[in-house]
Amino acid sequence: MRELSIYIHIPFCVRKCLYCDFLSAPADSGRIESYVNLLLQEIKKQAVFYGDHRVVSIFLGGGTPSLLPAADMGRILAQIRSGYSVAEDAEITVECNPGTVTEDKLKNYITHGINRLSIGLQSTDDGELARIGRIHSYGDFLETYRLAREAGFGNINVDLMAGLPGQGMDSYRRTLERVTALSPEHISAYSLILEEGTPLYGNQSAYQFPDEDEDREMYELTGRYLAEAGYSRYEISNYAREGFACRHNKVYWRRGDYAGFGLGASSMVKNVRWKNPAKHGDYAAYVENMGRQPGRQPDADVAAGTEAVWVSRMEQAGADEVQRLTTAEQMEEFMFLGLRLTEGVDPEEFQRMFGKSMEEVYGKTIAAFERRGLLTRKEGRLALTLRGIDVSNVVFASFLF
Ligand code: SF4
Repeated sequence: MRELSIYIHIPFCVRKCLYCDFLSAPADSGRIESYVNLLLQEIKKQAVFYGDHRVVSIFLGGGTPSLLPAADMGRILAQIRSGYSVAEDAEITVECNPGTVTEDKLKNYITHGINRLSIGLQSTDDGELARIGRIHSYGDFLETYRLAREAGFGNINVDLMAGLPGQGMDSYRRTLERVTALSPEHISAYSLILEEGTPLYGNQSAYQFPDEDEDREMYELTGRYLAEAGYSRYEISNYAREGFACRHNKVYWRRGDYAGFGLGASSMVKNVRWKNPAKHGDYAAYVENMGRQPGRQPDADVAAGTEAVWVSRMEQAGADEVQRLTTAEQMEEFMFLGLRLTEGVDPEEFQRMFGKSMEEVYGKTIAAFERRGLLTRKEGRLALTLRGIDVSNVVFASFLF
């Protein structure tokens, strides 16, 4: 059986953060309920496509999934379990924002089999949080973290951000100190990216952002500080205690099959990529169409779906950007996604997948980066060096044909 990861998009937030360009918006309970009903239909209708898959991870992301009533979370997970084969030890993560969960809700999550919580903190400085429009304070985060531990969560991620307006080295270090003192199992640390069209982008001249040198210093401090605190970096921006790397995210970087359900969610199965419609009406029509595809194949064929079957079924349902990856595109992804992981990529796996050696396809590029000290060999695998991580975008771009 092939392994499958499931992503569920919950596009609701209390209010929009000033830097956010994700697919999310505030919503009332009626809208949430009708969305959950659509999601349940989508999950149910697609189950027949995944008869040859076993679900190893489920990730409810957003948005702010923790805004959903716990009962809805339970309905979604029950729908998955009733139609899909879910591994006993599947990693099931819910993203949550401080202040949006109660003790009861968290306990309910555990009852529904949710075993990992990802908390969006970003900073422990209340001024920094306010400047980027977060709905919570550091105190709210501490309370949510305490409740999560008390409810029984033994696997918690905390999201952090560097490069915030008004953020200095001292305050960033304090954030790292305070968070590591709590000992979460996993920490994600990204740099703020100013996305065009967001209020922060439009108003950037009103703020003082860390300059390029400070940004780099924060980035280097993250790696150093978290290593000393017992976290190993397993991906460019992700750190974990032994045994707690996020299984779900590793599927993306290793190009495993994943199915995205919900508004605008992305999927890749058997080298076919597609996106769900990003507008509510289109998404509702897509879910509706899913059961009424002209020329739909018998279930047995569907379950053993080839790439061509996947393309036709998603195009007919009205998915966006349906794309069957060419071998060249698969090779590119193998390199630039796999090299994000500190363990790097395995030349033998490349040979098995593509029937050609990595040397034959990328030999010159690899040799040039090895000479410059940006790529190295680790136990037979090829990986970025620390200097390579610094300029990873340049390295990745070189693997595109
Ligand atoms: S909580 Fe996350 S998804 Fe929601 S508005 Fe803020 S950054 Fe965007």
